[in-house]
Amino acid sequence: MELLERAIIEKGEVLPGNVLKVGAFLNNQIDVKFLHELGKEIYEHFKDKGVNKILTVEASGIAMACLTALHFDCNVVFAKKNKTANVKGDVYSAECYSYTHNKTNTLIVPKEYLGESDKVLIIDDFLANGGAMNALIELVSQSGAKVIGLSAFIEKGFQKGGDDLRKQGYDLFSLAIIDEMKDGKIVFRK
Ligand code: 5GP
Repeated sequence: MELLERAIIEKGEVLPGNVLKVGAFLNNQIDVKFLHELGKEIYEHFKDKGVNKILTVEASGIAMACLTALHFDCNVVFAKKNKTANVKGDVYSAECYSYTHNKTNTLIVPKEYLGESDKVLIIDDFLANGGAMNALIELVSQSGAKVIGLSAFIEKGFQKGGDDLRKQGYDLFSLAIIDEMKDGKIVFRK
């Protein structure tokens, strides 16, 4: 998507380890209008599929999931990383390796917020090796709900996550796919 590609070029910063920093509009400061506009693109792709819930993971996924959910007129459920005192009772849980923090988290969602009748769109800010998306898919599968599709704002196409998920047959809609980040230069997939 051209708008997002321009924002990545103008405001993004390539950090060591192939990490892209987009704190200016996505991960730290939230450009609400812009994310709402991008969410419309996701809505246009999935609008006829009966989505009634959006699932994401704290923290960075929450803002974009909410702004996208406004278009679908549905609720957002976010997985917490590791069990906290205010999450009691039965939970779905899945292990997830964090690419940027180099550690494994357990993602959890209370059972009361996902169930068999749900048609779920999974959203995350970045898709790299697919650890986060696969853990979210696992949570949906434990609940008996249906995965309608997956959406990443930014897919790092030079890592294997996106291609693996497409091979598994998921409808993966990424707003921008980066094929290369070299010497600070970002190359997008056409
Ligand atoms: P994956 O699980 O697909 O390997 O990585 C996706 C997760 O790692 C996302 O939830 C995102 O928070 C984080 N991540 C992966 N690559 C990047 C990156 O280049 N920049 C930022 N800001 N986060 C990333």
